Amino acid sequence: MSPEEAKKRIDALSSELKQHNYNYFVLAMPTIADFDFDKKLEELNALEKQFPEYAEPDSPTQKVGGDITKDFVTVRHRWPMLSLGNTYNEQELLDFDQRIRKAIGDNFEYVCELKFDGLSISLTYENGKLARAVTRGDGVQGDDVTTNVRTINTIPKKLHAGNYPDDFEIRGEVFMHLKAFERLNNERLENGEVAYANPRNFASGTLKMQDSSEVAKRPLDCFLYFLYTEKLLFKTHWESLRAVKSWGFHTNEHSRLAGNIDEVFKFINTWDKKRFDLGYDIDGIVIKVNSYAQQQELGFTAKSPRWAIAYKFKAEQVQTELLSVSYQVGRTGAVTPVANLKPVLLAGTTVKRATLHNADEVEKRLKLHEGDWVYVEKGGEIIPKIISVNLEKRKADAKPIFYRTTCPACNTQLERKEGEAAFYCPNEDGCPPQIVGKMQHFIGRKAMNIDGLGDETIESFYKQGLITKISDLYDLHLHIDKLKQLDRFGEKSINNMLDGIEKSKQMPFEKVLFGLGIRYVGETVAKKLAAYFKNIDNLEAATFEELNAVEEIGERIALSVQAYFSDEKHKEEVEKLRSQGLQFVSDEKVVTLASEHLSGKTFIISGVFEKYSREELTHIIEQNGGKIVSSISAKLNYLVAGDNMGPAKLEKAQKLNIPIISDEELLGMIG
Ligand code: AMP
Ligand code: ZN
Repeated sequence: MSPEEAKKRIDALSSELKQHNYNYFVLAMPTIADFDFDKKLEELNALEKQFPEYAEPDSPTQKVGGDITKDFVTVRHRWPMLSLGNTYNEQELLDFDQRIRKAIGDNFEYVCELKFDGLSISLTYENGKLARAVTRGDGVQGDDVTTNVRTINTIPKKLHAGNYPDDFEIRGEVFMHLKAFERLNNERLENGEVAYANPRNFASGTLKMQDSSEVAKRPLDCFLYFLYTEKLLFKTHWESLRAVKSWGFHTNEHSRLAGNIDEVFKFINTWDKKRFDLGYDIDGIVIKVNSYAQQQELGFTAKSPRWAIAYKFKAEQVQTELLSVSYQVGRTGAVTPVANLKPVLLAGTTVKRATLHNADEVEKRLKLHEGDWVYVEKGGEIIPKIISVNLEKRKADAKPIFYRTTCPACNTQLERKEGEAAFYCPNEDGCPPQIVGKMQHFIGRKAMNIDGLGDETIESFYKQGLITKISDLYDLHLHIDKLKQLDRFGEKSINNMLDGIEKSKQMPFEKVLFGLGIRYVGETVAKKLAAYFKNIDNLEAATFEELNAVEEIGERIALSVQAYFSDEKHKEEVEKLRSQGLQFVSDEKVVTLASEHLSGKTFIISGVFEKYSREELTHIIEQNGGKIVSSISAKLNYLVAGDNMGPAKLEKAQKLNIPIISDEELLGMIG
């Protein structure tokens, strides 16, 4: 394909896929099958790899998972959000220092800061209150993500007292701590959802979600590192950092002043080693000239300030021998390859295993051979990745490694759904890790949370032939004699366990639904489905369109729910559980409303209110039958506006003729 043809095709695919994304995520009305969508995305990806010069930063290939939508208001930045010049090498840093000294002499200081690996955000404060949060976007304009940013605890909604101006902008980096990333990503995997590659993708996917209540559940954090004011308030960047800290902003405690470039190098070397102890990802160090007057003297290039530079760390890599590839079978039947490595020290920990993700990784990308020496790198995840193979060390007669074709647990022929990367063992009812995994999922903390019963007990009961499905748990009391014969299982623990099992019958429907382990039905989806359909019979009877119409329920989930109920065995199991006394109807208390005055009406709350918090207003609206939505569209019924509401939002609402009401007026509506 010629470059011209490639560019044409890339543009065509991009705009087509963007439209499909919009149809799917915003309109919730997909007009293309998932499979065909994925095929096109793959084609685009391949083309962009081959012709990187035509890959646009906003290409659909650059978006994460299913969490993006484009329904944000675009806002122009008051001061453009430039990028930073950056370098990986010491000589270039010395050159940078030289250039500065040539321009302003030797009498200056640097501020050294960690370079947080997240996404930049611009916050505007008016009269001490957070008015607007905007993503960097293309640097000139970005997305208004204020509602989502308000859920970030460390970003102050209202400032402490201080000498701040009425109107200023502050910039920083939104990121996710490694611990939170691991926990949430594992949850996604358990739910059969696609995992995020690193904390940065997770953070940016989260910030672009339409449902702020979802954002609130994902702990994000933010370090602030630039203050912008109309009139200069301080002489130096360092002073401004100290001031913004006293106003209530989260600044990073590791920033340091450096008197010269040698001190900068010391800072760099320290953090090159210590960065893995931080608990969040950094990808380098940012060096800024401290004095604002000197910054002004140095000025800007078209793309970046001349008074700052980012020194980027090379990711730490080591070489080690590949001992074998083994396979894990998850509760959904997905078979995941893992590389077993000769133990090696990397970034402060001993590495023995690396993820291989899927078959293509083994056979196509890495083309692994037996006995290969591989380069291993540690990114955000705790489990490292294999970056490449050292071909020089490969023996001439080394045999290629093929992905296994049968299940390592039950020997069934593996299947691959069209358009999916993972291979599955289809033997849902006969494959031990799947059977055990499903029961373990059911008793887990976030599902039925059964006291006195753990993963190991489930496994051993299964091996003893006591249980093969969830409903067997509720018959265990019939087998007390057998239980008593088991090793290390005393009367007391048996009673404890049976108690726990009995109590679990009171767990609400949404937990039971999550516990059933329907693919793609994670905790949140289960809640949404339970609240919407009220009971299992309605859910089972729901058509594809009805399912798809529920907020946040897309095509993929709808199909999966339908597939689940089309299986007679699943229906039987549900019936059995129902007869055993589990909850298959939503708790009435939850759905009782204070009134129906707002029923069928949608609302957005924006700005700050004197008498009520936004949470309180949300509660009031929902208690009276109304619904909170996350973005302004022509369908919105009311915008409840407080002080300091984002002008872009206001403008959009006015354009669409949406009634804008105060909190008083809202209360008036419910009497
Ligand atoms: P790059 O994206 O590699 O061009 O690097 C520039 C980006 O680094 C900025 O847009 C910020 O989002 C980010 N960054 C992270 N930490 C800092 C910091 N301490 N000071 C300035 N920018 C930072
Ligand atoms: Zn199997």
